[in-house]
Formats: sequence, C-alpha cells, structure tokens
Amino acid sequence: MAAGEEGGRAAELAAVEEPEVAVEDPRSFKDLGVTDVLCEACDQLGWKTPTKIQVEAIPVALQGRDIIGLAETGSGKTGAFALPILQALLDTPQRLFALVLTPTRELAFQISEQFEALGSSIGVHTTTPGRLVDHLENTKGFNLRALKFLVMDEADRILNMDFETEVDKILKVIPRDRKTFLFSATMTKKVQKLQRAALKNPVKCAVSSKYQTVEKLQQYYIFIPSKFKDSYLVYILNELAGNSFMIFCSTCNNTQRTALLLRNLGFTAIPLHGQMSQNKRLGSLNKFKAKARSILLATDVASRGLDIPHVDVVINFDIPTHSKDYIHRVGRTARAGRSGKSITFVTQYDVELFQRIEHLIGKKLPAFPMQEEEVMMLTERVAEAQRFARMELREQGEKKRSRNGDDDDTEEAIGVRNKVAGGKKKKRKAF
Ligand code: AMP
Repeated sequence: MAAGEEGGRAAELAAVEEPEVAVEDPRSFKDLGVTDVLCEACDQLGWKTPTKIQVEAIPVALQGRDIIGLAETGSGKTGAFALPILQALLDTPQRLFALVLTPTRELAFQISEQFEALGSSIGVHTTTPGRLVDHLENTKGFNLRALKFLVMDEADRILNMDFETEVDKILKVIPRDRKTFLFSATMTKKVQKLQRAALKNPVKCAVSSKYQTVEKLQQYYIFIPSKFKDSYLVYILNELAGNSFMIFCSTCNNTQRTALLLRNLGFTAIPLHGQMSQNKRLGSLNKFKAKARSILLATDVASRGLDIPHVDVVINFDIPTHSKDYIHRVGRTARAGRSGKSITFVTQYDVELFQRIEHLIGKKLPAFPMQEEEVMMLTERVAEAQRFARMELREQGEKKRSRNGDDDDTEEAIGVRNKVAGGKKKKRKAF
C-alpha cells in the first residue's frame, strides 16, 4: 500500500471517532452481544464480567468497525479482539481467517493460547509460524488472500523494532476488504502513521488516554551509588522473601550476569533474554509461570504483553532508557485487580531518566525504606558471588565461541557452573 494512495485520508483519520456508549453498565459478555457458546467459554475461563477494554471494544468490533485499542497491560486486550474474531468465524467458517502480528514469539504463543481456550468448543486452530514474510515469499501455495481480520498487538513496538518494511509487505498481500484492530498500551506518532496505512474509519477505544499505572501498584525508588547495586538487590530480595520477582536489566549480558550472581547466592533465579534460543526462552518463562522459580531476570523482551499472573514485585535494576518502557515493565505486576510493588534503582547516572519517568506518570514516587547498615553487611558475600559470576560468564562466552553455535546461556549451564563453583547453594535467608 503506497503512502500516496492513503494521503487523502489523513484528514478523515485525524478525527478518530470515540465509541458511543453502547451498553449501560454491562454485567455480562452477553450484554455486549457475545454469542452463547463464547459466553460459556468465557465462563469456563473464569471471566465472570467483561473488563473495561472489552466493554469498549467488543460491541464496536461486532458492528464491523476497525479499532484502535489503547489499554493498559493486563487489561484483557486479547479477549477484546479475540471474541469478536471468533464470533465472526462462527458466522462464516473458513481456513486462514485472522492474522495477529506480535513483536515477540512469546506473546504470539500467549495470544494463541487464549484463542484456543476461548475457541476450544468450536474447534479453532491457531498456528504461530514465526517470520511471516519468509513464508509469504518462500512457502509454495501459502497466501493470505482470504484473510478477514488483521490484528497488530503491541503495535508501537512492531514499528519500533523496524518491522515497518515487513508490515508494508504484509499489507500489500492481504485483502483491503478486511477488519483491522490495532492494540497498544502506548501510542506513538509512528502508530499514527500506521493507522493511516492500515485502518478504515477506525473507532478509538481507550481505557486510559493518559499514561497511567494501575491504582493497586505501589511504586518506589531507591537512590544508591552505582557500585552497590548488587548488594541493594540482594537486600531487597531478602527483605521481600516469599514473593515472586521480575528483575529488569538493560542488556542480555547484565541479565545473564545478575542471574548467575543470584544463583551463586542461593536464589532461584532464571534469565530470559534475546541471546537465548527460542526454546530456552519459553522454558524459562514456563518454569517461572509454574512457580518453579521465584525470580525472573529479563531484558525488555519480557516487558510487554506477557501474561505472568503471579508477579508480586517488579525491580528495575537498570532504569529503562525509554520512559514508556517503565509503564510496560511495572505493568507486569498489580494485574487483574491484585496489588503489587515496583522498585526502581536510581544511581548517580540515572537522575534525569528517573525525572522523565516521574513526569510521564505524573507523580512523585516515595523512597523504598531500607536499613543501609544491613546492606553494607552484605557487600563481602556479594563481592565473592560477583567474582564467581564473572568467571562463569567468561567460561560460558569461551564455550560459546568454541562451539560457534547454539547458546549455552541456559539454566542447565548455570547449574553446572554452580557445581563447579563448589556447590554454592546457600539458603535465601543466610544473610
Ligand atoms: P491480556 O491483557 O489480554 O494479556 O489479559 C490479561 C489476563 O486477564 C489474562 O490472563 C486473561 O486470561 C485475563 N482476562 C481477560 N479478560 C478477562 C475477564 N473478563 N475477566 C477476568 N480475567 C480476564
């Protein structure tokens, strides 16, 4: 779809419609127009009442309109687009009905699980093929010419990650006569560009038009010298022991290093980052989801969209450089009405970034209460664990280079190194 072709629609799109309030205080999915068999599916999933974004988006989608959905993470976005799609599929059954584009494969799996769960009684099949453009170009007989729905989830990320060319290629080979749903927690100018390219007279369904974090989230910061970050992390993990944690780091290397460090200190920590193979990433995520591990260390690969229901505490070990990523990261906790905490580490180098975050969320955060002397008592043990972690990281790097292939930055590799390091399995409360 050439840009010029769409240029004339800019004015029309500038005034994106807000939805009419379709139903007064809808109590059920049925009130929204969802058909009985799908209402039953919601019931079986324990979805008793529709969430706000579902109330806004489902009736509009069922009227056949395109949608720009702006909703917080964990708001029930997937149901908001999956239910209308499944309902349309019931009306006109066919193969290759809807295409959902996501920025990460984990998110694609998660969405496919929701589609399958909601559509199990009507025999829905989903597939998560990976790089779609490759298939379009190289798989004989594969095409998307009959497609009825296109969804872009985490749409701003799809563009940020330089998927723009791919998206354009896909838009060229799918029918113009289709429904398009664009969902995102944050709306960038680029998304507005995209809406020009892909949507027809869309309705905007926003749960919150400002960048907000949910009410039940207690957000804190700690202001600390950069060189003591590890000790403060260990202190907080001990203080809040018994909770599940997601710890965000800025690089794959630091994620791996911190996971090794914590495991050397006896914590059940597991890494998730882009230098791990897809299988290892899913493996990490599943172990954490199944509560076999209480600490997930991740880069921003995991900050968006992933549904990990039981995260109690989010720690921004490295402050996010893009303040919008803060919203996505802390959105991993305090989901579905539960409470949660977030703690952001602010060092002498991060003050400006932190001020930007406070400005974005429109509030000043309180400091997390700490006993500094207790933190300092940890430094020696932490320094020892840091030495082991550095050694292990080096060994892993060397092994990887000599194999020149598959990653060995896996949990098994970490486990082996722990044994080499003298079976350093200390109890969590050893400090
Ligand atoms: P999502 O924002 O789509 O990632 O959904 C977040 C979580 O909310 C998922 O675990 C869904 O199963 C759950 N969920 C979605 N809709 C509802 C609902 N109406 N009631 C209860 N839970 C829901």
